[in-house]
Amino acid sequence: MKSELIEVLVPIPLMGKFSYLPPKNHISPLEVGSRVLVPFGRRTLVGVVWSFTKKDSSDKRKYRHIKELLDETPLLNTHSMNLAEWSSRYYHYPLGEIISYFFPPSIRKGKEAKFKESKYIELTSKGSFLSEEELSRAPNQKKLVALLKEKKEITLQSAKAFGIGTSVINGLIDKGYIKRFARELSPYKKFENNKLLATKKLNPEQIEAVNTIKKAQNKNITFLLDGITGSGKTEVYLQAIQEVVNQGKQALILIPEIGLAPQAEERFKEYFGDRVMSFHSAKNDREKVDAWLGASRGLVDIIIGTRSSVFLPMKDLGIIVVDEEHDLSFKQMDKFRYSARDMALYRAKLEKVPVVLASATPSLETLKNAQEDKYTVLKLSKRATGASLPTFQAVDLRGKELYEGLSKELLEATRSELLKGNQVLIFLNRRGYAPSMICKVCGWVSNCERCDALMTVHKNPLKLHCHHCEAQKLYPNKCPSCNSNDFLTYGFGTERIEEFLQNHFPDVTTLRIDSDSTRKKETLNEYFHEVRKGKPMILLGTQLLAKGHHFPDVTLVGIIDADSGLFSADFRGSERVAQLMTQVSGRAGRDKKPGRVILQSYCPDHPQIEEIITGSYNGFAKKLLEERKSSKIPPFTFQAKIFAESPKSLVSRDFILNLLNKTKIDEKIRANVRIVGPLPSIMEKKSGVYRWELSIFSKNRSNLHKYLDIMQSRLYDPKLSKQVRWSIDVDPLSSI
Ligand code: ADP
Ligand code: ZN
Ligand code: ZN
Repeated sequence: MKSELIEVLVPIPLMGKFSYLPPKNHISPLEVGSRVLVPFGRRTLVGVVWSFTKKDSSDKRKYRHIKELLDETPLLNTHSMNLAEWSSRYYHYPLGEIISYFFPPSIRKGKEAKFKESKYIELTSKGSFLSEEELSRAPNQKKLVALLKEKKEITLQSAKAFGIGTSVINGLIDKGYIKRFARELSPYKKFENNKLLATKKLNPEQIEAVNTIKKAQNKNITFLLDGITGSGKTEVYLQAIQEVVNQGKQALILIPEIGLAPQAEERFKEYFGDRVMSFHSAKNDREKVDAWLGASRGLVDIIIGTRSSVFLPMKDLGIIVVDEEHDLSFKQMDKFRYSARDMALYRAKLEKVPVVLASATPSLETLKNAQEDKYTVLKLSKRATGASLPTFQAVDLRGKELYEGLSKELLEATRSELLKGNQVLIFLNRRGYAPSMICKVCGWVSNCERCDALMTVHKNPLKLHCHHCEAQKLYPNKCPSCNSNDFLTYGFGTERIEEFLQNHFPDVTTLRIDSDSTRKKETLNEYFHEVRKGKPMILLGTQLLAKGHHFPDVTLVGIIDADSGLFSADFRGSERVAQLMTQVSGRAGRDKKPGRVILQSYCPDHPQIEEIITGSYNGFAKKLLEERKSSKIPPFTFQAKIFAESPKSLVSRDFILNLLNKTKIDEKIRANVRIVGPLPSIMEKKSGVYRWELSIFSKNRSNLHKYLDIMQSRLYDPKLSKQVRWSIDVDPLSSI
C-alpha cells in the first residue's frame, strides 16, 4: 500500500518543500493551511501543510513523522496559499519563507491563534446531580456549587469576588464535581449602524468616482483614482467602501507610511466607528494577533495597514485600496523584495474584487497601464474644499547671498505668512546638521569607512553618523589626519536650518519633523496634533512631511533645494523628484486659504523645474513615459536584477561573471533578454561589503521569469560560492 506523504512549507531559505509522514496516532485528516511542528535536522520547526502526495513503492527514502498538528482548522485559506505560491514564483523567493509573512510573529513561532482567554468554571454532570447535603461539612464548596447551579458558569476572577479561594475550587475539581474551561474574549463587537457617521457632500467628479467603484463589486476591476493633492480621494474611497462593508464584506486599505496610520485610522473611525482596525509594525504582538484574528474571522470590517498588511488573511474581502500607490515604501528592499501594490493587484484578481490605486502622482508603471486601458481612470481635477492649487515661484540662487541656505525671498515670504497668522512648511530632504565635514588645513573629509559615502554631522547629540550603514563616531576634536581643529561643516541638514530659523524667528515655534526627531512611537502623531491646532509656526522637515498629510493652515511651502535629485544616476530619479516636489507642494493651501510654493534652485531653467512650476505632474509624466519608451526601459520593458555582495569587490563581480558564463541558457530564452552588467552598484561599498549587480531586461515577462528560473536553480547550487550573498530583485525600484 502507498502511504500518504504530507508536503510541508518550512521557513528556511531553500526552494524545496519537505515531505513528512502524518503524525503518529493521528486519526483526523490534516488540512492544507494548518500549522504543524516538524523535525528538521536537529531542530523542530513550525511549518505549514501545503499538499498531499503518495509515497511511491520505488521511493526508498526514510521520511520522518510530523510531530504535532497545531491547528485543527487551517489558519490560511486557499486564497492566501495561492497568493503565496504566486509571489514565490514571481519574486523567485522561497515559498517556506514567504508563508511566514502571512502570520504575526508569535503565531509564526507556533503560539495558539486565539484572542486573550478568560478562565471559567462550571459543574460537571456528576456535579449537577449532587445534593447539597453531601457537602454540608464543606460550607464554601457548598456555596460554590449553589452558585454554579444558579449561574451555570462563572469566571475564576468572579469566584474570588464571591470569597471563594483556589483550594475550594481545586477540592471540587478533585472530586470531579466541577471543571475548568477557557473562552476567548473577542475585542470586537458587531457594529449595527449601516450609515456612515459623518459624510461630506461630494462634488460631481467625486460622485461619479464613488458610483463607478460601487458598481464594480465582486468584479476584478483596477481603478486609478488620479486626483490632484487635496481633491478628496480619501473621501471617495471612504464612501465607496461603505457599500462593500454594508454587504458584510471587508476592505483592506494599504498606506505607505506608518506615520500616516493614526490620521487615516482617525478619519475612518469618524465614519465607521469600531469597525476599523490598523495593522503596522508599531503594534505590539497582542494587538497584531487581535487584528489578524479579527480580519481572518471576519470580525473587523476595515483594516488599514502598511505594506505587510497585504498578507493578512481576510474572511471575505470586498475591496482593496492602495493609497499613494506610487510610494516606494510599498516595495520591500531586502530579503523578499515584493511590491505590496503589485501583490494587492494579484490578490484582487484571485479574490475577484476591485482595487483602487489612489495618487496625485501615479507611478509611470500605473500610468502606462491606464493608457493601455488596463485600468479604469477616475479623475478628480479640483480641490475638494474649493481651494485652488498653489502658485509657484522659482528663486534663482545664482549669485545670491544666502542665509544658511535660505534666500531673502523665502525668508521674507515666511515672515509675511507668519504675520498673517499662517503656517509655513520648509522642506529639505536631508536630516542631521550638515552632510559632511572637511578639514580646512589638509582637506580630510568625514568619509565612512564602511561605505562609499560621507558621514553626516549631527549636533544633537554631537556625533558623526553614516546614514547608509548607521555607523556612528565621536565628533573629532582634532583632524585625524593633521591634528588641526579648523573644520568646515559643509552643506545643510534639517538640524542646521532649525537652528537658524529658531534664531531668525524667535517668537514662533519651529517644529523639526524628521526621522531623528520622531524616533519615539507617539511623537509624530503628537507633532501633527500640535500643527492642527493652527497656531502660526514653521514646520521644517524631510519627506516625512510630504506624504498625504492634511495641514489646513499651511499657506507657504518653501523647498530649499529643488535641485537635489535632478542629476541622479538612476533613471528613475526624475520620476521620484517630480513626485516628491508635487506632493510637498500639495501641502500648501489645502483648505480655505490660498497657498504658494517657493522653490530655490541654481538651475531654474532645467526642464524639470519648469515643469514642476507649471504644476502639471501628469504633463511631465507623459514626457517621461515617451523617453522611457524610446530608450526601451521600464515600464516598457520588464526588469530584474541579480545582486551579489561580498567583502571583496572582485569576488562579487566574479561571482556574477561565473554565473553568466557557466549557466547554460536555451537560445530562445537568451535571445529574448538583454543583459547589462555585471556593474558595481551606484554605491558599490556599503556596510563593509562590495555590491555588484546584473540587470536583465525583457519585453516579455514570461521570458524574464524563465531566465530567472534557470539562474535561480544555479544560485542555490552549494558549490557556487559561500563568500557571496546574492539576491534577486524583480521590478527593482531603486539603485542605491
Ligand atoms: P486627498 O485624499 O485627495 O488628498 P482628502 O480626501 O484628504 O483629499 O480631502 C482633502 C480635504 O477636503 C479633507 O479635509 C476632506 O475632509 C475635504 N473634503 C473632501 N471631499 C470634500 C467635499 N466633497 N466637500 C468638502 N470637503 C471635502
Ligand atoms: Zn586636517
Ligand atoms: Zn556607512
